[in-house]
Amino acid sequence: METQVKQVETICSFCGTGCGLDVEVENEQIVKVKGHKENPSSHGETCVKGALGWGYIHSDRRLTEPLIRKNGKLVPASWDEALQLIAHKFSAIKESHGPDAFGCFSSSRSTNELNYLVGKFMRTVIGTNNIDSCNRT
Ligand code: SF4
Repeated sequence: METQVKQVETICSFCGTGCGLDVEVENEQIVKVKGHKENPSSHGETCVKGALGWGYIHSDRRLTEPLIRKNGKLVPASWDEALQLIAHKFSAIKESHGPDAFGCFSSSRSTNELNYLVGKFMRTVIGTNNIDSCNRT
């Protein structure tokens, strides 16, 4: 089989600094990550997380589908089944204990847009201001 090599320019998602990365991919597997020299904020630099923290991507221990505990055992489920279960449980908790029974930690590893959606969801759907994130540190 001929080796397929490509270089992908992207942004590191480990923290809010947003360093530019060049990702070397061989046969759909990442083999090397280095700083993107033309990135205006990082100029080719990265920290250890950006350069070396990608081994989990190809780990066979990574979750690739929802799991639901049935009879004490985690079993694969469809996204529809998992989301319906979550909605049912959230509704039951909210009804029994009120919206402030919930709290949510968002993440600097998510995009601004996802963090905004988490805030909107917690305030407008759940009805609580119990939201925090490592973004503020
Ligand atoms: S390389 Fe390091 S400093 Fe840059 S965005 Fe990634 S985690 Fe943050």
